[in-house]
Amino acid sequence: MSETIFSKILRGEIPCHKVYEDELVFAFLDIGPLSRGHTLVIPKEPAATVDALSDDSAAAIGRVLPRLCRAVKAATGTEQYNVLVNNGPLAHQAVFHVHFHIIPKPDESAGLGVDWPTKPIDHADAKQLAAAIAAHAQAG
Ligand code: 5GP
Repeated sequence: MSETIFSKILRGEIPCHKVYEDELVFAFLDIGPLSRGHTLVIPKEPAATVDALSDDSAAAIGRVLPRLCRAVKAATGTEQYNVLVNNGPLAHQAVFHVHFHIIPKPDESAGLGVDWPTKPIDHADAKQLAAAIAAHAQAG
């Protein structure tokens, strides 16, 4: 994977407002927050997208993410929040090193705004699709 701005942050070559670090995980405040307390949680492993993460990094993030959500809630006094991961440029990823956004949602005007254009499910397609996803998930 190519070098990103987050590799430089991990190496301490670019400053950040660090909030957490362990052997496999690092977290810091987003430089362009959608709301106060907007935090990025990243693996030290330089994977570009979630599907490329090792089991160890994924487990380490999963273990600490709820704790960091509680910490952001407590420090900002904001009860509601979004956890978001963008994977790929079409999905609005700009930095190609996995990062989980924790974005407090204090009110309608701050935090993440989501367009959610739902459509009715096609049950015939869904049956095949669920089977295909299940088979791939089983295979790893
Ligand atoms: P993405 O669109 O890839 O999911 O989000 C990338 C995030 O990284 C953006 O919210 C952006 O503000 C943040 N970001 C980009 N460069 C830096 C930086 O140098 N320092 C920090 N703290 N955040 C950054």
